[in-house]
Amino acid sequence: MPCNKKIISLKNVSMNYHTLSKETFALNNISFDVHDKEFVTILGPSGCGKSTILSLISGMIKPSKGNIYINSKHIDLCNSTVAYMLQRDNLLEWRTIKQNVLLGLEIKKNLCKESMQYALNLLKTYGLEDFIDYYPSQLSGGMRQKVALIRTLAINPQVLLLDEPFSALDYQTRISISEEIKEIIHKEKKTSILVSHDIAEAICLSDRVIILSKRPSKVKKIINIKFKLNNLTSIQKRKEPGFQKYFDEIWQEMNDSE
Ligand code: ADP
Ligand code: MG
Repeated sequence: MPCNKKIISLKNVSMNYHTLSKETFALNNISFDVHDKEFVTILGPSGCGKSTILSLISGMIKPSKGNIYINSKHIDLCNSTVAYMLQRDNLLEWRTIKQNVLLGLEIKKNLCKESMQYALNLLKTYGLEDFIDYYPSQLSGGMRQKVALIRTLAINPQVLLLDEPFSALDYQTRISISEEIKEIIHKEKKTSILVSHDIAEAICLSDRVIILSKRPSKVKKIINIKFKLNNLTSIQKRKEPGFQKYFDEIWQEMNDSE
């Protein structure tokens, strides 16, 4: 369950991109917090600046204005509290599943007996033990995304940034794998920010949904998601009356051009 400790804070963050030919005003005065073990989804139209927010939180780019804090401190470039998972799994085809999962640890020069054991245990706990010597091409799209998640978890980050990780999957796989991935993140007690443009996915996976406007985007609304019963599956949530209520509220907000 999420608690009140703030892990991530964006305070009045704006972002302008400058290229030789133009300036793009992507984010306009964005502020929000994410709490310990919370699962927050950022929803917004394509091109509104969702990935930009994740890049800012990861420290890969700096905001034009405003401040970002992780654990109450200004973020450092490429800090290891935060790890990224992308839409494409980016598994290396010439490495086995085990070698792929250990890649982040190798890059960070942090591969030792303990960290290797931790990574292998994750593969075991989450049902991939029989596949450790397989190559990525021998796995389904859903399983590949699970491997990509475990590779991200292997470096034991506090925060996971998930940039539309399910959008390349077919609809059915998407529902089941997103559920599985949410469950893994919950069990591993991570704080997560998911970027999506799928309203139903956001409702089923999140504790809170942050809705952004078109570019230059502002926070339009933040909605707490709560169902009467805890531990409902995505399919069960979709049948609840509360699901339709949230869906209508978010739909209206996203289609309101104000
Ligand atoms: P989203 O993830 O919501 O689709 P992005 O954060 O990728 O949106 O992009 C927001 C806007 O900023 C887009 O108009 C995009 O073209 C522009 N943009 C993103 N990255 C860069 C960059 N490195 N240089 C210039 N413009 C960029
Ligand atoms: Mg994006």
